[in-house]
Amino acid sequence: MNQPLFLQPIFQERIWGGTALKEQFGYPLPSENTGECWAISAHPNGPSIVKNGPFKGKTLIELWDNHPELFGNQKEQVFPLLTKILDANADLSVQVHPNDDYADKHENGELGKTECWYIIDCKPGAELIYGHTAKSKEELVSLIEAGSWDQFLRRVPVAPGDFFYVPSGTIHALCEGTLVLETQQSSDTTYRVYDYDRFDHQGNKRELHLQKAIDVSTVPHHDAKQNVHIESKPGVEITSFIKEKYFSVYKWEIDGRAEFTQDQPFLLVSIIEGNGKITINNESNSIVKGDHFILPTQTEQFTIEGQLKAIVSHI
Ligand code: ZN
Repeated sequence: MNQPLFLQPIFQERIWGGTALKEQFGYPLPSENTGECWAISAHPNGPSIVKNGPFKGKTLIELWDNHPELFGNQKEQVFPLLTKILDANADLSVQVHPNDDYADKHENGELGKTECWYIIDCKPGAELIYGHTAKSKEELVSLIEAGSWDQFLRRVPVAPGDFFYVPSGTIHALCEGTLVLETQQSSDTTYRVYDYDRFDHQGNKRELHLQKAIDVSTVPHHDAKQNVHIESKPGVEITSFIKEKYFSVYKWEIDGRAEFTQDQPFLLVSIIEGNGKITINNESNSIVKGDHFILPTQTEQFTIEGQLKAIVSHI
């Protein structure tokens, strides 16, 4: 298989979701509270389905299990990454995720969750919660127990194009008015610390997971190191945001015609702006904002033409 595997997104309703995924990407949404587009997923809570080619109709889970050659014959049991687009129409709960060891022990063998965010769009003055002020576990516990959220939580301003690396153990939350592309480990484990005392549509408060959150939170918080660099090649400017244990993430800004060599086992590509086409072995596919695809190992050389922006990741 030397062609892109285009994937059908899965949508998840959330109390903090809205309609930006339809307004911005034209997706047919199941409700007015759609919070998450699971764009490239092999997680059992929402696996992607292939839209084209000989594997049309198969899930990404089936491909990972039965066609490891597409992914360079990795040893991991499960497809390791998950790409989402999140519409934070309201504040998300303040939360923290476990690392691999803790999730394996306490969550039935789930992966931990290290994630990162590319801010696609946000309203003026938007913020997010990234880290906290406690200097010791004792201080963390007492600030949480006292509900001293203004004192405890660290708010940072955000602008379109910003990038944040969120290692497991980081207390964080997306806040109202942000549209984010998230690249993360393939995990659905979240420990909620604070949910603004909100009620869901059934009139219930969502469960908090204070003890687990306290267990896994990194104290004191350190801002993750980032080493962003930009490289210009014919037809493309490549911004490298992060190269870490679980993933590397880039932005490709294509203007004209750019040639690429596949030097990874596989690439995850999400088109976040513009349109164009991708050509491999004389076969072309048009690509447009909102498309998500995987370039398997066998796509050795490829050309992208057009005016577009993509977020690209690999293990
Ligand atoms: Zn998170």
